[in-house]
Amino acid sequence: MNLPVVSDLLSLILPERCHLCGSPLREDEKHLCAACMASLPREGRGADGLNRMERDIGTLPSVRMAWGWLTYQSRNETGQLIHDIKYHGYSRLARWLGRRMAMELLPGGAFAGADCITPVPLHTLRRLKRGYNQSEEIARGMAEATGLPVVRLLKCRRHRSQTRVGQERRAENVKGVYRMRRGAAINGLSPDRGPEIVLVDDVCTTGATLLNAAEAIERAMPGARLRLLALSLTFRH
Ligand SMILES: [Zn+2]
Repeated sequence: MNLPVVSDLLSLILPERCHLCGSPLREDEKHLCAACMASLPREGRGADGLNRMERDIGTLPSVRMAWGWLTYQSRNETGQLIHDIKYHGYSRLARWLGRRMAMELLPGGAFAGADCITPVPLHTLRRLKRGYNQSEEIARGMAEATGLPVVRLLKCRRHRSQTRVGQERRAENVKGVYRMRRGAAINGLSPDRGPEIVLVDDVCTTGATLLNAAEAIERAMPGARLRLLALSLTFRH
């Protein structure tokens, strides 16, 4: 039995506990206690007024916004959350974090006028093995907070996991791996209408994954305008 199932069963008899500090949750808390939620390291804006992701990868002509929410380090709280949503089956935690991120970004207009939210896809075999795509769960949480639909626009061909490739080879590793799914332009998203699309990933390291996914949308829908959102940003020097 995997860990989330065990924790679901235990939650029937024991109070739910904070995923990070283990303290019992109040009735109005979910997954994380208020103190752990408040202390998650937000990226925000730097001294130049830009979010690091905006500065690093917000340069494609179609990109009207880029934002990384939490600072990721392998040993910080964000690193633990990302590890658990990716490798330990905590899909509901991923969805909840997506919801919380969207709730924080909503007042700044991050979703205003957007048509849909779309996740960076996983290759089918990897998705089957994991049982879900964590970026899609994050997107679904954002959809709950914003009322926008989640549309799976992209598919992904097989490639080595980015986590196993050195930073300098990441761009090459994902070059051309993303394509528009057949029929994905339906659902009211016509290539000519210039749809506003929120593209979502779990971790942004070099930006190679998000940029390649964005380029695949640009190729298929030249009029599209994109907002790139990552739940977390790695700390690069
Ligand atoms: Zn806590």
